Amino acid sequence: MTITGQCLCGKVSYKIEGELQMSGVCHCKNCQRQAGSAFSVLFAVGDDQIEIDGDLTTYDDHSDSGNVVHRHFCGTCGSPVKTSLPIQPGQTFIKAGTLDDTSILEPQIHFWTGSAQNWVHIDENVPQMTGNPG
Ligand SMILES: [Zn+2]
Ligand SMILES: [Zn+2]
Repeated sequence: MTITGQCLCGKVSYKIEGELQMSGVCHCKNCQRQAGSAFSVLFAVGDDQIEIDGDLTTYDDHSDSGNVVHRHFCGTCGSPVKTSLPIQPGQTFIKAGTLDDTSILEPQIHFWTGSAQNWVHIDENVPQMTGNPG
């Protein structure tokens, strides 16, 4: 299976070979701020599965535990495209809103539900973590 996606303006695009490794929803405050939304939807792929075309700008964010979180976005249109964590080498987390076809998505877990916005209702059948292992 080949999975494709791009930022809003199209200057950054990607191609993924194979299956997504995991898909989740992050309700942390930093994801809310970066996305300008209620949460971010992301999925993980191996670095060797993905090919990114175009230039990304990086903002070095930090998790509550002080670990660096590289947030990569399109410098032209601002779309958040991927996140990488030095503490999780070999994996790339892609912001799922950039997918061309989102019908393949089925988030398996919710992170940081302790800071979820009040109006957000989370499916009880999907595992939730009030924080995050990182
Ligand atoms: Zn763009
Ligand atoms: Zn987050």
